[in-house]
Amino acid sequence: MPTPFKALAELCEKLEGIRKRVSMISSVSEFLKSLEPEEVEPAVSMILGQPFPKWSQRTLEVSWATLSEIIRRITGVDWKIFMEAFSKTGDIGAATRMVFESSKIKRQTPLFEKALTITEVRRSFEAIAEAVGAGSREKKERLTEALLSSSSPLEAKYIVKIIVGEMRTGFHEGLMEQAISEAFHVPLDVVQRASMVLGDVGAVAAVAKTEGKDGLLKVSFKVFRPVKLMLAQMASNVAEALKEHGGKTAFEYKLDGARVQIHKQGETIRIYSRRLTDVTESLPEIAETVKRNVEAEEAILEGEVIAVNGEGHPLPFQHLMRRFKRIHEIEGMAEAIPVKLYLFDVLYLNGQSLIALPYLRRRQILAERVGEIPLTKQIITDSVEEAENFLKEATSSGHEGLIAKKVDSDYVPGIRGKRWLKIKPILEPLDLVIVAAEYGYGRRREWLSDYHLAARDAETGEFLTVGKTFKGLTDMEIIEMTKRLKALAIKEEPRRVFVAPKIVVEVAYNEIQKSPKYKCGMALRFARITRIREDKAPEEADTIQRVKEIYKSQFSKKGNIQLKNSR
Ligand code: AMP
Repeated sequence: MPTPFKALAELCEKLEGIRKRVSMISSVSEFLKSLEPEEVEPAVSMILGQPFPKWSQRTLEVSWATLSEIIRRITGVDWKIFMEAFSKTGDIGAATRMVFESSKIKRQTPLFEKALTITEVRRSFEAIAEAVGAGSREKKERLTEALLSSSSPLEAKYIVKIIVGEMRTGFHEGLMEQAISEAFHVPLDVVQRASMVLGDVGAVAAVAKTEGKDGLLKVSFKVFRPVKLMLAQMASNVAEALKEHGGKTAFEYKLDGARVQIHKQGETIRIYSRRLTDVTESLPEIAETVKRNVEAEEAILEGEVIAVNGEGHPLPFQHLMRRFKRIHEIEGMAEAIPVKLYLFDVLYLNGQSLIALPYLRRRQILAERVGEIPLTKQIITDSVEEAENFLKEATSSGHEGLIAKKVDSDYVPGIRGKRWLKIKPILEPLDLVIVAAEYGYGRRREWLSDYHLAARDAETGEFLTVGKTFKGLTDMEIIEMTKRLKALAIKEEPRRVFVAPKIVVEVAYNEIQKSPKYKCGMALRFARITRIREDKAPEEADTIQRVKEIYKSQFSKKGNIQLKNSR
């Protein structure tokens, strides 16, 4: 018997009210048991607030503006009522339910009210996602309206929550794995392993329901279903990485590009970004290179794509981002910003999962299959000195640092562990000159405590501001500094004093960014004074040319920028 969507909505409602994890798990477990096999995956996805399984590239693309318009139309309520309900509950779904309820009396009840089933809701989501191209907005709107029109207030609450992706029941993927284990009597570690491999807990539940433990043990990667990426933790230096990995490890260049997971089946290649979205269309030449070089019927490979200049030298990350943001005229862009692929791992080859093999073995297999595609440069060593030289070599050839990989480590999808450790060079502090200072606030009202820091232009002798800081000095030092700076004042404003460039301070910082704030076009991030360099004259301070060099050698951090899907 098809399960009504109402049952799923009631379950979620119940979860919202339960605090105890064990009770949550057993409620979901009971529910999973009651489902028809084909309902399991859609139900699991929806309970977790997702319209589709994780590996799916489908998205609904229904904005809140559209959705609110539809709710308003269906219910006919004054939007003020919705906003009041929303500010009371802070929850879009709950507010939707309230306005549906308040309009129910007014709405004519159909004579024959057919209950929505879980399968029908999934089908509606599919139809909404499939509406693309011209007229798709109207079509999505019509389909969403039809779905919500046949929903009860409680059902509408959860349909809206799934559409906007805000389930907020506190029931997450980890708990779902436990519920699956309980419902289908499969050990939790077997469920977790399958979940790692399939990258989607709904798919795992479906296999558990129909094939049990044996089925789950057999699950393997499928091409065109991206696998969650293994990530690296930070190590402060190469010595720490060596120690963590038992005295000997493999160091690879850490390239400053975009992580890609490449799936190949015959002639078909798909490339997925760090967030597992399909970016194949943005990188046609990479797909072509893989097609030409990789010797495998089926494979899942990983690597880094970097932007390069005409001579093949790496360019900062921002350049690469322009490639990903580009949707049209890819060809022109491909010429203007060439990209290059370096591979570093293989997860799956011709029907076999390789993730349980030691890293070195995987790398060897990879090397045998990639034709002319380069692998990331690598050394295996137990020497701190050798590793430090390798780090210097990496950064001086324009790369970001190193990644240490434990030689016998497996590939663990979705985990940021210690098997991989990233090492970035420590940015050396700069000696800068104070050229102006501002009075502080509160306790520091009377003190010049916020300092403008400048580097000398070696060509003109001018001091150019590169940053500002109120951090690093003690109260006593600030009082002393205020006196000294007042004596050096050239120009005074109510809260600011410009001074002769005489006092040199050592400044630590996290990064040098491009910035329009200062004339030199760069700015230090998180600058702090580490000492007052009484021993240095302003002419000995670091130059703007040095700042520029450091800026060039360090690349922007990535990960916080989403690669845009080009489709
Ligand atoms: P982070 O983004 O700072 O967490 O650093 C990890 C990222 O470094 C990975 O996700 C890759 O995109 C990138 N990376 C660059 N070179 C390598 C390499 N040789 N091995 C693994 N990851 C690399």
